[in-house]
Amino acid sequence: MIHSLWILNNNGICIFQLNCGCFEIDPQLFSGLLSALSSFTRETIKREINTILIEDVKFIFEKSNNLYFVLCADKKDNNIILHKRLIRVQIHFLNKYKDILSNWNGEVSKFEPFGEKVDKIVSCSMEGTELYCENCERLIPSNFITKNIDLHDFYFCCETCQEQFERLYSKFIQHGTHFELT
Ligand SMILES: [Zn+2]
Repeated sequence: MIHSLWILNNNGICIFQLNCGCFEIDPQLFSGLLSALSSFTRETIKREINTILIEDVKFIFEKSNNLYFVLCADKKDNNIILHKRLIRVQIHFLNKYKDILSNWNGEVSKFEPFGEKVDKIVSCSMEGTELYCENCERLIPSNFITKNIDLHDFYFCCETCQEQFERLYSKFIQHGTHFELT
């Protein structure tokens, strides 16, 4: 199961968090550690952090230019599913807050409304086989469209949703990684 989600900026500030599991992690402490670790790996081995494994728990990362998206989940949870959920969070977050982010005044409360949506996107439980449209988030009955983007399978209820999602994907998730704030 997924325990937590954080969105951190590259100054080491946690701008959004969601806790569904049993870990109480101080987000500012964690983001300080993360930014130290990430500049360490970038400067020494020239790599971005992808996954950190600690006993039976792991941290999964996606970076979009100025922001880190981090999920904490059980070690046994499927990495492909976890990365895909993070990509969904990225797309929805960046699309919703692009204007605020490009001119952000440091007010974390601006991102609080994302909490209402993120539960549905992340879905803390890894159980269940129901498919939800990646774009409109409706439950898809039996006819669905599968589209493979950057090695991830995404599911859609209709072509309109597929096109809309692909547009957002290419706008925000360029080659699976970077997003430029303009
Ligand atoms: Zn849809």
